[in-house]
Amino acid sequence: MELTRLRGFRDLIGADARAMSLVEERARAIFDRYSIKEIRIPVLERTQLYQRSSGETSDIVEKQMYTFTDRDEGETVVALRPEGTPGVVRAYIEAGLDRTDPEQRLFYSGPMFRRERPQKGRYRQFYQFGVEIFGRPDAACDAELLIMIEEFCRDLKVPFTMEINSIGDQKCRPAFREALVKWGRAHWDELDDDCHNRIDRNPLRLLDCKKDAKVTESAPNSLDYLCDECRAHFDTVKELLTGVGIHFVVNPRMVRGLDYYTRTAFEVMAGGLGAQSTVVAGGRYDGLVETMGGAAVAGIGFAIGIDRMALALEAAGVLSAVAPDAAIIAMGPAAMRRATLLARVLRANKMNVEMLSPERKMKTLLARASKIGARYAVIIGDDELARGVVQLRNLKESTQSEVQEVQLGEAARAIAESRTK
Ligand code: ATP
Ligand code: MG
Repeated sequence: MELTRLRGFRDLIGADARAMSLVEERARAIFDRYSIKEIRIPVLERTQLYQRSSGETSDIVEKQMYTFTDRDEGETVVALRPEGTPGVVRAYIEAGLDRTDPEQRLFYSGPMFRRERPQKGRYRQFYQFGVEIFGRPDAACDAELLIMIEEFCRDLKVPFTMEINSIGDQKCRPAFREALVKWGRAHWDELDDDCHNRIDRNPLRLLDCKKDAKVTESAPNSLDYLCDECRAHFDTVKELLTGVGIHFVVNPRMVRGLDYYTRTAFEVMAGGLGAQSTVVAGGRYDGLVETMGGAAVAGIGFAIGIDRMALALEAAGVLSAVAPDAAIIAMGPAAMRRATLLARVLRANKMNVEMLSPERKMKTLLARASKIGARYAVIIGDDELARGVVQLRNLKESTQSEVQEVQLGEAARAIAESRTK
């Protein structure tokens, strides 16, 4: 076939798509419980938006953006969104919320695009659910988000670990940065080319050195550089988490790749994913709204990698196959008409049913019913039609009983309720 999909882009069919939807459904349910409202933002934005917010030296802006010049008069340079936060911040400022109603709890969801090397758990189009909270500089907000994330992962039944750190703020981070630059120069030979580039441009990313995890063991530790305010903030976050029994690991080498983060940074890793195990990542970004031309409003947020979370669900084996409760088998045109009506009765009573083609043989249809995983077959032939009954066949147990049409609703409800979730 010539017209194949692009590298790093995926078609998700059936169970794989279902795993993604499940993650999305559960995320929405949790966000409701935490009073977080939805925001929908465009997929296409000015490239400048990302340059300004993510920082010129982030991987995203340096090499991962799908960007092109639009054919309008101004020849606007636009990009497919590589992440959600810049668009949400832009929308927040553009709606004037930073001045009129700064405290906002928002979530977004949808596809993101990054031109990176495809591998398992790393795609060029992937999906994120993200949360951004504005106007809440307090540590209680950091803790509330982490508690929500923990609840979400527990709800999905995937094994996970949560790591947190504080990377300081504008006041104390310069000293940490400087210490990292000094360390980087002293360990030049142990670092790869990527990291050589980072030393002056984005020294925090030195801690992400992919060459050898051992290298960074001697690197400076962000927690040693925190000012009193940042330390007190981080202590409160930890105390609140401990108080509600949340397990976390403090990882003083964890940094975020984007320039706008301050203070609390966190990541959640899921089991069974191999190298790309981070399924949730985020942190505080108190200076971002102002950097983007808005008021000085605090912010904190995170994104869930839906694709990876779905892979984790599949790896944990917690997904049940979706199959209809029953297949409807109608023999002949008159039975087919009756079956169309009865299918509505079954569905009105919460049964999931699939109507099979009436133009095949009984044997073929029974085989089809098994193939789609139906637990029951509802069979209607001329004889059943004449007597106002159907045959209800339990395909798993190979038993069959006759049910009066008038009692079909009741039978359907019992079958729907016996479905294992
Ligand atoms: P990584 O270090 O894995 O590249 P990142 O720091 O670029 O991650 P973020 O920008 O913080 O990731 O995005 C949050 C989450 O989105 C990640 O933890 C991951 O689950 C998911 N994610 C990021 N990039 C991809 C991708 N290319 N394909 C699939 N999921 C992704
Ligand atoms: Mg990345």
